[in-house]
Amino acid sequence: MAEDCIFCKIANHQIPSDFVYEDDLVVAFRDLSPVAPTHILIVPKEHKLNLSEYGKEDEQLLGHILTTTAHIARELGLEESGYRVITNTGPDAGQSVMHTHFHLLGGRKLNFDKQ
Ligand code: 5GP
Ligand code: ZN
Repeated sequence: MAEDCIFCKIANHQIPSDFVYEDDLVVAFRDLSPVAPTHILIVPKEHKLNLSEYGKEDEQLLGHILTTTAHIARELGLEESGYRVITNTGPDAGQSVMHTHFHLLGGRKLNFDKQ
């Protein structure tokens, strides 16, 4: 748990959030400012800055995050229509919360900025 980290506080239930999933390793809750009809944040409970801090020893956790994301997408009825999973890493990606998180977006056609 990092001091003054909003996602650590959410993961510890110190700040109320609209949770859709929780287990020993991750929490998932609705984004405060959704950019799609379904916009979920999947957040590992362990505090790390972003993907750049993960190594070989984290492969099991990273796999768990992705299979959990697929599970949540299925539960929320996104499997057939499709969805996107994003993790913004660092300034050029526009990361604004400094605790690793994966966005699950769905419920509308998503455009894609490849620039
Ligand atoms: P980033 O820009 O770092 O990839 O994404 C951060 C996301 O966290 C944004 O989509 C923002 O709306 C969301 N967010 C920031 N603070 C809070 C919060 O306190 N609660 C929830 N549910 N979402 C938040
Ligand atoms: Zn944190």
